[in-house]
Amino acid sequence: MSDVVVFLFSSSGPDRATEGALGAARNLADSLGGRVHAVLVGASNEALMRASAAVADAVLIADDPALAEYQPEACLAALVQISRMISPRAILLGNDAYSQELAPRLAHRLGGSATGDAVELAVDDGRIRARRPVYGGKAVAVIELLQSPAVVWLRARAFAPAEARDPSGATVTRLAVDVASAGGPRIIERAVEDAGESRLEDARVIVSGGRGLGGPEPFRDLGEVASLIGGQLAASRAACDAGWAPPSWQVGQTGKKVAPGLYLAVAIHGASQHLAGISDAKVIAAINIDPDAPIFKHCSFGIVEDYRKVIPLLRTQLAAQKK
Ligand SMILES: Cc1cc2nc3c(=O)[nH]c(=O)nc-3n(C[C@H](O)[C@H](O)[C@H](O)COP(=O)(O)OP(=O)(O)OC[C@H]3O[C@@H](n4cnc5c(N)ncnc54)[C@H](O)[C@@H]3O)c2cc1C
Repeated sequence: MSDVVVFLFSSSGPDRATEGALGAARNLADSLGGRVHAVLVGASNEALMRASAAVADAVLIADDPALAEYQPEACLAALVQISRMISPRAILLGNDAYSQELAPRLAHRLGGSATGDAVELAVDDGRIRARRPVYGGKAVAVIELLQSPAVVWLRARAFAPAEARDPSGATVTRLAVDVASAGGPRIIERAVEDAGESRLEDARVIVSGGRGLGGPEPFRDLGEVASLIGGQLAASRAACDAGWAPPSWQVGQTGKKVAPGLYLAVAIHGASQHLAGISDAKVIAAINIDPDAPIFKHCSFGIVEDYRKVIPLLRTQLAAQKK
């Protein structure tokens, strides 16, 4: 009852988020004196299997064809069965839409406790505590997960990867799960947005645009700046809601939590809900025409100017430097 299960969806990873989830599971299991069971759910993924075996004590593969495509009810049924098989003290999931949807439902089915967006996990006198930012990152809540299992989804990049061990030390088992009778709603069609680049959560440099851009066209200029510095594009909710940027670019409380080395906020006001998504950025830089915009209180570098003057200059300078 001191083991830790980490569920990894084989459609994602291995990447910084799955490595962090494995690292968090390793630390928590070591603190509890238990084992790490990495459970790979979905189509087989050799690379994720190898990364898991280098950290976990046991790797379990649940690759029933019914799990190859994410179906919430089938997936939940599989996670419940596997959790009951192992009876862990804690269950960890990543920071993806599947995990956020499944974690509270899984905890409820297992009679456990749940929390999400955890940035730190600790064991105190046998009790598991999670820390999570609240009020847009202005405070941190400490949640004690009283009922077992403790089901927690983790903030991406908040946890360091574990030191890799000899993968031959881990047992690898294929699991049979019965998901045929799961019922419930099924996804019958999927429209996949062309993300084009890698995940925003893993980006080292992000150039983000807000409502002050005034329309979708300026995102093309920001895109040129981003590509000159090896960055990715993102946006505020206002820009996404206006349809100038796809919803997958939204950063903030109800968008993605990012942790780049550089976050350049262009014509973004700096509302607390936006700042909640960038609190882990190492350097924030801002371009805003309003010297009183709150973003300036949170950035290391700021330019008070119309972005239409700054972005072309920046683009020319960067292009010249690149040459
Ligand atoms: C429950 C809840 C959840 C939310 N979640 C999110 C979230 O996840 N992410 C998010 O971003 N927001 C979120 N919001 C919305 C948030 O409160 C703000 O409304 C939003 O972030 C504003 O976006 P913005 O800064 O792009 O736009 P605005 O507030 O309109 O700011 C535009 C900025 O552009 C500047 N500007 C204008 N013209 C120029 C120019 N020519 N050159 C330079 N600067 C210029 C202005 O000075 C201004 O500061 C949420 C709100 C709620 C209530």
